[in-house]
Amino acid sequence: MKRCILVILDGLGDEFIPDLKGTPLEYINEKLETLNYMVKNGIGGLHYPFKPGIPMSSDTAHLTLFGYDISREYSGRGYFEALGANVEIRDGDVALRFNFATVREDNGKLIIEDRRAGRISTEDSKILAKDLQQALLDAGLPVVVKNTTEHRGILIIRPEKNELSWKITDTDPHEINEPILKSQPFEGLSPDEHKAAQVTANTLNEVTKIAYKVLSEHELNKLREKKGLPKANAILARGAGKAVRLTSFKEKWGFKPAYVAAGALYKGVARGVGMDEIKVEGATGTVNTNLEAKVQGVIRALERGYDFVFLHIKAVDNLSHDMKPLEKAEFIAKIDKALKPLRELDDVVITVTGDHSTSSLRGRHIGMPVPILMWSDRIRRDRAERFYEDELVTKGGLGFIDGINIIPLMMDIADRVMEYGLRPSPKPVFYIGATGEPLKI
Ligand code: ZN
Ligand code: ZN
Repeated sequence: MKRCILVILDGLGDEFIPDLKGTPLEYINEKLETLNYMVKNGIGGLHYPFKPGIPMSSDTAHLTLFGYDISREYSGRGYFEALGANVEIRDGDVALRFNFATVREDNGKLIIEDRRAGRISTEDSKILAKDLQQALLDAGLPVVVKNTTEHRGILIIRPEKNELSWKITDTDPHEINEPILKSQPFEGLSPDEHKAAQVTANTLNEVTKIAYKVLSEHELNKLREKKGLPKANAILARGAGKAVRLTSFKEKWGFKPAYVAAGALYKGVARGVGMDEIKVEGATGTVNTNLEAKVQGVIRALERGYDFVFLHIKAVDNLSHDMKPLEKAEFIAKIDKALKPLRELDDVVITVTGDHSTSSLRGRHIGMPVPILMWSDRIRRDRAERFYEDELVTKGGLGFIDGINIIPLMMDIADRVMEYGLRPSPKPVFYIGATGEPLKI
């Protein structure tokens, strides 16, 4: 049985960029020595992370790529954000991400002037979060407020008499010059679920109100105003999520899994499915991340006996959101160089792909399929020799696959799948675990 490495370059796929006369991958292709080597000696194609034409968020896309059915097993982003930020989340809690923001009052509405309060420092946010936490406790609200980096934080709502639901809308309108929204339950919930969502939304709306009052009068904000800095006088919440017990990746696929990632959300998703963290110096989730050290982290994980390693590289997506296609292309070339040591590994199946496509023309996620390659020393090969969208669709032997089938395909190449119909146990068995025993699924 071979070991598996899944490399995800966040937001890898793109669309035609007139200035580059192609996608970023196509433009930079001549420089992609490692990726071209792998696809030439392996197999390529494209995958739809979920369904054609549906732009995916990173958390839902990663879960699908790990083989989870998000239509049944997903319960909001906030859970993974909280896990990734090391904020304790208990069963029944609802977690949201929040920003400290600058608002002005206008006809009884709080209008957003700056969604990040001038990218307030982590030190200032820490002071505000601590005092806001105290004020909310004094008001009898069952919540936890934790700042993370700069203007960002996590808000946890704890259940008291009533159950809570994550199916509530954001208070963050995601635009400036718009009012803070009132959170409300999703449409179409059952009466019980609607009640739970209403309780949750009411608490969040109360938190929003108290936060404005407390933060507006806070000494630190008066000081910031004197210094000409925007006040951080409101919080904007989004992405409610509830703790969910997912079948662990180990139980599902029989691997001993580890991950190398820097972004909080990706750590959260990997932790949520029970992968172990391989800590890497200098991994930042930005363009300045230490790519070589991350790749060494993958190799270290294999040496320690892990047989599945997930490597996540975030900044490809950041550059797409910033609409910098040239920089995106150049960063992919840097990653390509850093991945080279993986070619020297024995007994591995390597997949390189993205979690979704992100258009660096439109600055947002799009529903177009994502380039993928699989490489191993023994694998069916195709005629694809270069790693970019058009080559993969015209010559890729994988064709179009669903994101949820990536792990099973890797496992088949790795000799970890039993022939359909063999029944060594009363339960249907397909996958073979790390010990060589069939998995009961
Ligand atoms: Zn993503
Ligand atoms: Zn993105």
